[in-house]
Amino acid sequence: MSCVIRALNLSFRYQNGEPALSELSLAVHQHEKVGVIGPSGAGKTTFFWHLNGLLKPTSGCIEVLDRPLSEHKNVNEVRRHVALTFQQVNDQIFCSSVWEEIAFGPKNLGWSKQKVDETVERWLTYFNLKDVSHRPPHHLSGGQKRSVALAAAMAMEPQLLILDEPANDLDHRNRRKLITYLKDIQIAIMVASHDLYFISEVTKRCILMGSGRIVADKPTVELIHDEDTLRQYGMEAIKM
Ligand code: ADP
Repeated sequence: MSCVIRALNLSFRYQNGEPALSELSLAVHQHEKVGVIGPSGAGKTTFFWHLNGLLKPTSGCIEVLDRPLSEHKNVNEVRRHVALTFQQVNDQIFCSSVWEEIAFGPKNLGWSKQKVDETVERWLTYFNLKDVSHRPPHHLSGGQKRSVALAAAMAMEPQLLILDEPANDLDHRNRRKLITYLKDIQIAIMVASHDLYFISEVTKRCILMGSGRIVADKPTVELIHDEDTLRQYGMEAIKM
């Protein structure tokens, strides 16, 4: 099966910082759903930011759809395949209305007006955002902002959807909808969350990160119950 993304010996150090990623390698196949767990500071966000070119590795490389990231025409070409939602949702939203925020990606991809309109309508309806579609996203509640950011990423129909703590701020109804959506959608997903119940519902494979490395890569159902391994990284397993 071909890979949607492959990281090869990825290392990264922030300016004046400790190494945040160390010789990390991972391949994610088409349609695979991978949970990414680990304590705060393990490197999950840093890793994700490498996968669509937001950060450049100190050494090692990333391949997107079997081509090195550097060989893609430009970063926009990568981002049409790899959509990322940020942990800090305020860093992601920037348009003057919810409608524009969701339309931004599809418009950039050059879709027809009709396809853009239909797509935006579908996602506004899906996340119950129709009533606020003309409001600036920055003026919405945390949960609504999160829904806007998710809708904007999903609207681009990426081949890999990378979600950094996507259930933060969502109310029960939208959390449940997100789980259902992520379970059903036929694309690859990487999702970081401290919520192991969320991870267990959405993913079949799970990696555990510690100090910028992958320290376990197992079926999700095994890893989330692996008390000994998780305890070493300050995490609590789900009781059987
Ligand atoms: P996680 O997402 O698992 O919580 P991060 O990727 O945010 O981990 O952080 C990994 C390491 O990189 C941590 O030691 C963190 O302090 C450091 N780090 C994160 N962002 C920056 C930054 N902008 N500048 C310097 N160090 C950073």
